[in-house]
Amino acid sequence: MFQSQFLKFGGVIRDEETVKHLASDGSVVTVTTSKSTYTSQNVILAAGPWTLLLTETLGLRLPLEVNVQTSASWLMSHSKRNR
Ligand SMILES: Cc1cc2nc3c(=O)[nH]c(=O)nc-3n(C[C@H](O)[C@H](O)[C@H](O)COP(=O)(O)OP(=O)(O)OC[C@H]3O[C@@H](n4cnc5c(N)ncnc54)[C@H](O)[C@@H]3O)c2cc1C
Repeated sequence: MFQSQFLKFGGVIRDEETVKHLASDGSVVTVTTSKSTYTSQNVILAAGPWTLLLTETLGLRLPLEVNVQTSASWLMSHSKRNR
């Protein structure tokens, strides 16, 4: 749904293209990928737990921390047969 909205408003999705490096001169951000180089006035960085790897290429050290947590859930049966 988010992708279709993005496309509807003129966005372009480039699959199989890894962002390798970000650089900024204060007014323009240059994004270097495995296939090309792009410039933009603004960049939204949404790389999940990999965000820090990319902000570090900008020379930014953000107070973000990636934690690995284990979670588990159980489905409780209320039928007499399973007691
Ligand atoms: C096993 C598991 C189960 C989960 N279950 C739930 C759940 O039930 N409910 C819930 O609310 N949350 C759940 N979560 C958490 C949820 O997946 C995350 O909170 C959510 O996906 C974060 O979204 P995001 O867009 O910020 O990051 P992500 O979903 O991690 O997306 C980041 C994207 O950036 C891409 N990317 C990273 N680096 C680069 C790069 N250099 N170049 C190009 N692309 C790059 C990655 O490929 C990825 O597609 C679960 C997570 C895990 C691991």
